[in-house]
Amino acid sequence: MTDIRLYMLQSGTLRCKLHNIKMNEGNGADYEIPVPFFLITHPKGHTVIDGGNAIEVATDPRGYWGKICDVYWPILGRDKGCVDQVKALGFDPADVRYVVHSPLHLDHTGAFGRFPNARQVVQRAEYQYAFAPDWFAAGGYIRKDFDRQGVKIDFLYGVADDHCDLYGDGTLTTVFSPGHSPGHQSFLVRLPRSGPVLLTGDAVRPLGGKIASRLSHLGHRHRPVRPKAAESGGADGRVDRHRSRSGRLAGPAPGTGLLRLTKQVRKTGLLPKNGLNVRNMRNGKSQ
Ligand SMILES: [Zn+2]
Repeated sequence: MTDIRLYMLQSGTLRCKLHNIKMNEGNGADYEIPVPFFLITHPKGHTVIDGGNAIEVATDPRGYWGKICDVYWPILGRDKGCVDQVKALGFDPADVRYVVHSPLHLDHTGAFGRFPNARQVVQRAEYQYAFAPDWFAAGGYIRKDFDRQGVKIDFLYGVADDHCDLYGDGTLTTVFSPGHSPGHQSFLVRLPRSGPVLLTGDAVRPLGGKIASRLSHLGHRHRPVRPKAAESGGADGRVDRHRSRSGRLAGPAPGTGLLRLTKQVRKTGLLPKNGLNVRNMRNGKSQ
């Protein structure tokens, strides 16, 4: 039986300027951002989360992405597309059951329609916006990535059907988190042995340097919000959404999966090749 594991992978980087990521910072300094994506292996069929850059930019960035290359230049090895990386780990692309999408921005859509038996799980609001974005957001959407024939799409409708449990066993739950884009969603991955991991896509970025100090002048305070112990993982391994007093999503408690994952990534750059070990599912409904 296939273990339930989470793999953190990377499909290249984007070269840009620091001010493209941190407003008004850097004085034109160069900046390079990693483009991560994730694979969850599961006995009921695997899931690819996002998929990173489309493989076409490995050989023809400007031909595929167009003018946005003036701002974000993709660096991608020919064998680093998401399909090849799933294969390289020893998994069959035909066994991917879901491709789930946070935003449909160009550095997240590399898996859209690329796995023959997969259903795409995307927020309806994001899909609609991607076809007719505002002028200031248009550069981030590459229509060729998501306007594809013969692709099966499961739409989600924001808060109306939020917390969709894709496998029915708590392994992967969607969390509607608009803001970075109108239909952005995050993913709560419950790993009974390694703890829960909240994959926030582009919904969270570090508040640091000038931005944090500017906001502090405005009276905002940035403190980690610690959820109650019962919310951060009880004896049964289940974890509910963490909410701060204001009701908004807050960070997980120290020691939960996201922080451990962050530390591990900081230390090593990537997760271990065999992924997080999540054998011995506690929810017990896997087949
Ligand atoms: Zn984005």
